[in-house]
Amino acid sequence: MSQQTQTVWKREDVQVRDIQHYINGSFVEARSNESFANIDPFKNKELNQVASGDERDIDEAVEAASRAFKRGPWGSMTVEKRMVYINRIADLIDEDIDEIAHLEALDTGLPISQTKKMTARAAENFRFYARMVQSVLHGESYPVDQAFLNYTVYKPIGVVGLITPWNAPFMLETWKVAPALATGNTVVLKPAELSPLTVNKLAEVIDRAGLPAGVFNVVHGYGETAGAALVAHKDVAAISFTGETTTGTTIIKNAADTLKKTSMELGGKSPLIVFEDANFERALDAAVWGIFSFNGERCTANSRVFLHKSIKDRFVEAMKERVDHLTLGDSMDQTTQLGPLISKEHMNKVKSYIDLAKEEGCDVYQGAVPDALVDGNFVPPTLLLNAENHMRVCQEEIFGPVVAIIEFEDEQEVIDAANDVEYGLAGYVWTNDLQRGHRVAQAVDAGMIWVNAQNVRDLRIPFGGMKASGIGREGGHYAMFEFYTEPKAIHIALGDHPIPQFGKKK
Ligand code: NAD
Repeated sequence: MSQQTQTVWKREDVQVRDIQHYINGSFVEARSNESFANIDPFKNKELNQVASGDERDIDEAVEAASRAFKRGPWGSMTVEKRMVYINRIADLIDEDIDEIAHLEALDTGLPISQTKKMTARAAENFRFYARMVQSVLHGESYPVDQAFLNYTVYKPIGVVGLITPWNAPFMLETWKVAPALATGNTVVLKPAELSPLTVNKLAEVIDRAGLPAGVFNVVHGYGETAGAALVAHKDVAAISFTGETTTGTTIIKNAADTLKKTSMELGGKSPLIVFEDANFERALDAAVWGIFSFNGERCTANSRVFLHKSIKDRFVEAMKERVDHLTLGDSMDQTTQLGPLISKEHMNKVKSYIDLAKEEGCDVYQGAVPDALVDGNFVPPTLLLNAENHMRVCQEEIFGPVVAIIEFEDEQEVIDAANDVEYGLAGYVWTNDLQRGHRVAQAVDAGMIWVNAQNVRDLRIPFGGMKASGIGREGGHYAMFEFYTEPKAIHIALGDHPIPQFGKKK
């Protein structure tokens, strides 16, 4: 099991080195010898240099992964042996949990109290898939037929390309890497250019776990170069992507040329609906946590809060009080609740939405950013009051600590408004009326609904969205059987069944 130690680290305690690709079991420079600067979101100073990959690095990584898949021991290894490696990865993550969590907090601006929990979950992702792959049979057979034995086996698909975002990068990477490896595939991972530190630790951990060379590869770099080359590569069988909807659309188009299987985990604009009979305090805790945790840079954030008219004023007052007391600060500090956003560019984008909200007629209520934090990419926790669902600030993903508050009067009205948006990732319903809870859960367009709960994840359950929030699901059997394996039907003749004697001389 994962252990969480109580070590207190300071910024200076975190060792940051320049980062190379990890290809065919070695850490290597980019073929171009180019690198780019990785910037600290708290001070806006360079943390380190990162190898900048292009088509040549992707070619090398795919070639290594392809060799490891076809000729290496990985695919032909027994499941039990492969799982020893996978469990070793989990144990090594646990051993380095403090370092990984602090690197992630430093790199992304996500508060350390939150990155620690996510790192522990990352180790569990490996253990979960190790257990799962061992517990399922390799094939299914179908009812006895007089003439045939028909059965299906689930085979690894080959080299899979994984492309990941900067929000909660370590956890999201392991969500893909663990099932991909456990099912016998080999991997080329192209992580987000804005958060390269912890994926480098993942490569170190996997190297220490002793996986055969070429099974797991990382190519750093920009989306338009390294990412696009991975998507276009003819020897990559599938792409699993998490990121923005517009990027996902581009990837699907580009993957079509080589007929790749794709899985898309995309953006969201998720509603949280509080009915008049809800448990007020719990709904309040959930609404505040759901938008301000992870700096609001969270795909399942409840960025639209719908409040029943009868409780709206009281709820808004309570939210204002929470906003006043949220602790902004250095992500490395244990007491910080809201850290700096990932980049200056992203901070400016989020701020531009707050300006837009004013133009669209919202009243804006914000916390304050202390003077000591001026160098960081801070956006204060922000409530967009008196919002209306048709406004752009209620339709577009802002991806920061900004929530639109919308009033409603009846159930059908709030269902229609919740669904009147391009996205369909998550939804949260707060009511003590059992029938209404079920009814609204059925009616809201989203891949995932929580009733009287915050976003609690169970790895056995499908995770993902509908509409512009994605295609496909991650987690449990959904990742293993629907994405990372290819079903193969095998038909064995049990006797001499009739075959048309086509062209035979009469
Ligand atoms: P992004 O789309 O900008 O980048 C994601 C990754 O795609 C990065 O590694 C990037 O380099 C790469 N990329 C960019 N252009 C590419 C191209 N043309 N070809 C191949 N790869 C390319 O997303 P982001 O800003 O890093 O992440 C934030 C987004 O991710 C938000 O929209 C958020 O909602 C979404 N997200 C979704 C989920 C989910 O499970 N649905 C989870 C986390 C984040």
